[in-house]
Amino acid sequence: MGRINSMISYKQIKSVASQVGFDLCGVARPRLFEQNREAYGRWIDAGYDSTLEYMRRNLDKRFDVSALVEGAQSVVVCAVSYKSDINSFYQPHTQNKVASYACCRDYHKTIKKMLLQMLSRLQQEYSQLQGRAFVDTAPLLEKQMAVEAGLGWIGRQSLLVTPRFGSYVLLGELVLNLAVDSYDEPYSGVGCGECRRCLQACPTGALVEDMVVDTSRCISCHTIEAESHNRLDLSGWIFGCDECQMCCPYNKQAESHHFAAFNPLFDPMAISTQQWLAMDEEEFAERFSSTPLKRSGLERIKRNVCGGVKVDCYADSSADDTDE
Ligand code: SF4
Ligand code: SF4
Repeated sequence: MGRINSMISYKQIKSVASQVGFDLCGVARPRLFEQNREAYGRWIDAGYDSTLEYMRRNLDKRFDVSALVEGAQSVVVCAVSYKSDINSFYQPHTQNKVASYACCRDYHKTIKKMLLQMLSRLQQEYSQLQGRAFVDTAPLLEKQMAVEAGLGWIGRQSLLVTPRFGSYVLLGELVLNLAVDSYDEPYSGVGCGECRRCLQACPTGALVEDMVVDTSRCISCHTIEAESHNRLDLSGWIFGCDECQMCCPYNKQAESHHFAAFNPLFDPMAISTQQWLAMDEEEFAERFSSTPLKRSGLERIKRNVCGGVKVDCYADSSADDTDE
């Protein structure tokens, strides 16, 4: 029988998060992020959202969790490491590179399931508990919420960096209608210090200043989401880009993931340009339908294999196949 009208135990939340497989968990109070709203406004005004139109939607909810979920009292922020050695063999000249998170099963489903398991276990104890689970899709400022929940800081590459797992973490949040008996303090540890490696490593200069990404120049956005008007050198990346993470000292020293759901399912270096260009939809679905690559689709990936600009370069390859 669940407890009635009680605050949720902070210790219990942490324990359940660990049981379902999260490496980190913190609890924050919802609040209005006024400073973030101002910075976001400047970013939009500068046009750095480029063709990502969804970034301009739901601006009223983006900076205020209570506007997103009515009656929100607490936000539980969870993180799980996905660090593997898949990108450790990439060289600047390596072709057909895939961001390491995308070599695993699509994290959206995995993390949502973990969050819902957490919620269900807590609801067995707290009968009045209601909650909503978010993974990357709602207009929730999840990186800032993670800072509020004490998990880490936002690095110069604009990603969350955690002291133990670096930036190779995936985030999920539970927004709850009950208060918690204790909350974490916002992160106040060392941070990036004098390091500027990610700014220097970005091949396209997309990190225009600390924590500011021009998405029209970002290879990750360009290969997955944005139909940028820029002709961008993709530096061999065909889905995502890890350059500003591979160089980070916190990532170099981070522990590898230990949750089997984040084991890589394929090695991009084992798939040649010819193999990509000769691949048909059936093979693509068979090999990659459980991974984030499905989101881009085979045509987009073939285009990226060709550098993202020469859209007809694989027409010849198809013709060759037909002729055989
Ligand atoms: S993902 Fe790649 S292109 Fe985008 S900011 Fe990082 S290093 Fe630059
Ligand atoms: S590479 Fe350096 S500046 Fe960039 S996020 Fe890591 S510690 Fe911060």
